[in-house]
Formats: sequence, C-alpha cells, structure tokens
Amino acid sequence: MHVPIKTALSFALAAALQAIAPSYAAQAEVPAASAAAVQPGDDFFSYANADWLKATQIPADRGSWSAMAQLAEETNQRIIKLIEAVPGDQHAGAEAQKVSDYYRAFMDEATIDAKGIEPMQPALKKIAAIKDKTELTRALAATVRADVDPLNATEFHTENIFGLWVAQGLNDPKRNMPYLLQGGLGLPDRVYYLEDNERMHKLRTAYQAHIAAMFKLAGYSDPETRAARVYELERKLALTHASREDSADVLKANNTWSAADFAKKAPGMDWKLFFHTAGLGKQQQFMLWHPSAVVGVAALLKECSLDAWKDFLAFHTINTNAGHLPQAFTEQSFDFYGRTLGGAPQMPVRWKRALDAVNGGMPDAVGKMYVAKYFPPESKAKLQQMVANIVRAFHGRIDRLDWMAPETRKEAHAKLDALYVGVGYTDKFTSYAHLAVKADDAYGNAERASKLHYAQQLAKLHQPVDSKEWCMPPQLVNAVNMPMQNALNFPAAILQPPFFDPKGPDALNYGAIGAIIGHEISHSFDDSGSQFDSKGRLRDWWTPADAAHFKTASNALVAQYSGYKPFADLAINGQLTLSENLSDLAGLAASYDAFKAANPQGSDRDFFMGYAQSWRSQAREPSLRRQVMTDGHAPAKWRTYTVRNLDAWYKAFNVQPGQQLYLAPQERVRVW
Ligand SMILES: [Zn+2]
Repeated sequence: MHVPIKTALSFALAAALQAIAPSYAAQAEVPAASAAAVQPGDDFFSYANADWLKATQIPADRGSWSAMAQLAEETNQRIIKLIEAVPGDQHAGAEAQKVSDYYRAFMDEATIDAKGIEPMQPALKKIAAIKDKTELTRALAATVRADVDPLNATEFHTENIFGLWVAQGLNDPKRNMPYLLQGGLGLPDRVYYLEDNERMHKLRTAYQAHIAAMFKLAGYSDPETRAARVYELERKLALTHASREDSADVLKANNTWSAADFAKKAPGMDWKLFFHTAGLGKQQQFMLWHPSAVVGVAALLKECSLDAWKDFLAFHTINTNAGHLPQAFTEQSFDFYGRTLGGAPQMPVRWKRALDAVNGGMPDAVGKMYVAKYFPPESKAKLQQMVANIVRAFHGRIDRLDWMAPETRKEAHAKLDALYVGVGYTDKFTSYAHLAVKADDAYGNAERASKLHYAQQLAKLHQPVDSKEWCMPPQLVNAVNMPMQNALNFPAAILQPPFFDPKGPDALNYGAIGAIIGHEISHSFDDSGSQFDSKGRLRDWWTPADAAHFKTASNALVAQYSGYKPFADLAINGQLTLSENLSDLAGLAASYDAFKAANPQGSDRDFFMGYAQSWRSQAREPSLRRQVMTDGHAPAKWRTYTVRNLDAWYKAFNVQPGQQLYLAPQERVRVW
C-alpha cells in the first residue's frame, strides 16, 4: 500500500503496489442519481458511480484507476512544478537543492544510459567473488534494509532476504525493537509460487523468462540456467513463508527471540556474523514476525548450492535497481511487473518515475516543500473539528453497546481518549543533512538514501519511543492508523477536494473524508487493533463474554465478504480483509452519527452517495486478481457494500427484500 521509503524496490513493482492502495475519494458535488438502470439495492457501487464508470478509462500506464489515484496524480503535478522551480543558485547542501538534484539525476536518461551497469558493478563483482557460505552470509546480511511495515502501512514485501521494521515492542511499548520479516521473493507473494492452476503456471514461466532477460541484459552467461536456479531457490523460500492471511495476525507475529536463540532454533547460518554485518550485532532481542522463514533461510543456506545463492543475489541486485539503470532494464522490468503482473499496457512517463524515486529517497524533504505551498491552516482546523465530532460519536456508540461489560467499555473509552491524531504533517521532519546527492548519479543517490534510511531506523533502537512519530509523508494521498502508537496520520495531500472541502457540504465531507476518519479511528477497535490496549501494549483487555460477542459479529462479516466473488474462480478472502471491513463498517457508522449530530437536516442520500462515490474505481484483471490474493483491503466495489449493514441506508434508498444487497435486519452485522 504505501511504499514511500522503498528506494531499492524496482519502480515497476512499487508502482504496481501503489496502484492497489486503498482508494478514498468523492466528487466535489453530489450529482443526482444518474439515469442508471441499476437499482441502488441491487448494486450500490454501480448505481452511485454509473456516470463515472461510463466516462472513465484506466490510463494506459496503470493497472487500476480511482478518484484517489487521480488526486495523487494531480498532487504529483503540483510537486513537479515546485521541484522544477528550485533556483539553481542555492547554497550547496540546501535541502531543496538536493531534492532538485535527485530529481534531475533521474531525469538525465542520457547519463544513465551512458553509464550502463557501471554503477552496479561493485555490487555484482562482490557477489561474483563470494567463495564460501561465510562470505555469502555476509553478503545476504548487507542487503537488509528497513523496507517493511507489517502493522501500520501493512507492507510485507521485500526482495531482500529479510525485511526489517523498527518499532516499539508488542509487549513492551516503552522500547523500540527490531522486527524480522520474511523476504527474498521477486513475485508478490508465496501463492504465486505454490498455487496450482494455469494462470499461475503462466506467470511463473513469465517470471523465469524475466529473470533470464535481466541476467542477459547485465551480460551474464547461461541466463536460462541461472534463472531456473534462482526460481527454484525462491520456490523453496516461498514454502517457508507465512500466508498473507497469517501475516496479518499479530498473535502469530509475537515471537521474541534472544540473539542466542538463533543458533539453536534456526541452525545452518552464522547468525552472529549475519547480525553484525546488518548493523544489529549489539541487539540482544529480536521480534520474529515470520519465524518459519528465518528457520527456512538458515536451512536453505546450507542446503542450496553456493552458485544458486550467488545467482539469487545478483538477480535481485539487478532487479531492485532496474529503475535506476539504462532504458533496456527499465523496459524489461515494466514488461514483467507492470504489463504481465499489473495488466498496464504502457510504462509511466519518465517524470512520474522520477518523482516516485525522489519521493522514495527523500520523502520528508519533498513533503516540506509541498505543505509550505499547499496546506492551508483552515484545512487543519476544520479537519480537527471533524475528527473530534467523530471521536465523540464513537464514544456514544460504545456507551450504547448493550453487550459490553463495564470494564471493557472503560478501556475502550480510555483508548479513544489517548488517541493521537496527526493532521497534515509531522512536527519532526526527517533530516537529509547526511545524504550526499549528486545531479549525475541516480543510482548512487538511491543507494545512499536507502542506506541513510536504514541507519536512521537502526538508530531508533537506542532512542526512546516517539509515540507521535509519523509513518506517512505529507504529500501522500492516504491515511493510517498505527495501533501500537494508538495514533492516526492524515497527510496533507488527502485533505483537499474532491475528498475534503473545508467549504463543502457536511453530507459530502462526512460521507467521504468523514468515513475515512471513522475508518482510521475504528482500526483501533478492529480484530487486530482491539488486541492493543490504551497504552499500545498487546494485551487482552476484553472480558471472555465480550470477546465472544465480538468474534461472532466478526465471523458474520467474514462470511459476508467471503461470499463475494469478483471472478468465478476467485472469491474475496473474508478473513484476510476482516480488519479493513470491520473498520469500514464501524467508521461509516460513526461518521454517519457525527454527520447527523452536526447537521440533523442533512441528506442521508447525499451522505451515502458521497461515500460510494469516494470508492469509484476500475481495475484491470491481473491487478484486481492480485489485490484479491494479496491485499488486506477488499476491492473498492465490495467495500462500498458496507452500506448493507446500516439501517439508514435502507430507508434512504427504499431498499426492499429480494434486492441483491438486501439483508434482513437480524442479518446486518453490527459490531461497534
Ligand atoms: Zn484501513
């Protein structure tokens, strides 16, 4: 979903992943229900978005398109103008100058082409010189970066052998801990290696061809043999990986290992050397999000040949850097990740990729430039007011729950009271004072930015926990709940029309941004968030009876979503998407309450139309399939169907028994 810090990720995969980000948006005005033949009670998404769906085509460089993607595109165009306007006579080292140089280096295709693979040669030569498993261990460790975030941004994927996330302890909120996640796959998830059907067979064949093509471009002999070896090693890695569904289960992730445990529990690797090389040599305790992959890598290190591992390292070095290499690499990367995996026919133009690169390398520096020009203080004040209203509505809902015991209720209130709500941007922007940026070195800039980011994250292990730390830059069109910090971020870029208009009607603002605010607040009380207490500790604060009631309601929502079939052979995974669906449901309900409190005469129809229109989107088949298989968010259309669980929606649109979306009152899921 959110890949702002992944400088090393191949651009095409980054773009493809971004394309499946949750999308929130609404039109600036609520048009009258169009002449659509479809009834709201049969398909509310198509009813509310009929005109848009008819008039809109997915751009050629995208796997999917939505109002949110469009807003992001408009925001990017503004940012580009800001970057291009940076005067050339700034004093050396000025941050805006670095942003401009970073961008220009990426735009300078002639220099990149002329250099060929020379910037990557030192890394490839090092890999070629590996003589034994000790050197291999060191080389694998050197690739580790802080490039995942399983809880806030739900970013689980890295091509490096492991991903690292530094955040407060699940059991000890006062201390930052290193979390180890599974990695090493060039395909998006283990299912792409293991599922037995024709579609996946084809993708696997295409992936092997892609590996071979990359080897060939980089001048390697026997590309097909190497590709087969790399693929086979990744397939074995995939067998040790947790499923996407299990990855979302914090209880399965709550594994504390001491530094000494690794030799015993995961034999086959010199872990002391590994951690020393990765900058974690002094660390006494680790959190293992994916213990089976840690055990698996150590075993495979022993089992698989040195040549296979060297090919694996070489391929991923080329693959993750493809966006900063000559055109032939970039095109090959897009051909597989964009076209084959995402379904997009055409590569994004260079300036878009350049902005992705600079947003990846220096996110806060770009963000600072953006908010200075584009974030009015009135927006902040108005949004804070809406947040306060929706929090109050949520308090009210907690009070009205007839099934909840007083002690559970008390902690739920305490948790809401302790919530930190960040609006616009962080108070503490990341410093790039130690980043060397050169206007003729795109590859080196990305490499240095990624190393600096890693060093900054490692440094947090020796610093107190900052519960107000942001995980999103202000120029990102998105929003997030951080369960351990008990905090929300609403970046500046999402706080603009068509999402949010400080001067717009309440029905629209509460239907669109209000539902997003409610959604993010509700993540504190979804199946995952509700396991953290008001201090951000992973602790069971529920009475058994309350927990049982919550479980029953959750199961009903799992069943509701598992019944949706975007394709005849592929249903939505109700369990995988449960947290998001719970948050959609509770968030929409809380925003509706706040809307009625703020404006009792406001139109319910407009509120629900604003909500459904905020989810308008279209996706190409490969992109939609990938989302269903790997994303914690259900596709937008089915998120819209949340309305079936709210009584007010039935009244507003006169929905009757027999219609597709109709649920009898006792079948409507009510959680919060
Ligand atoms: Zn969410």
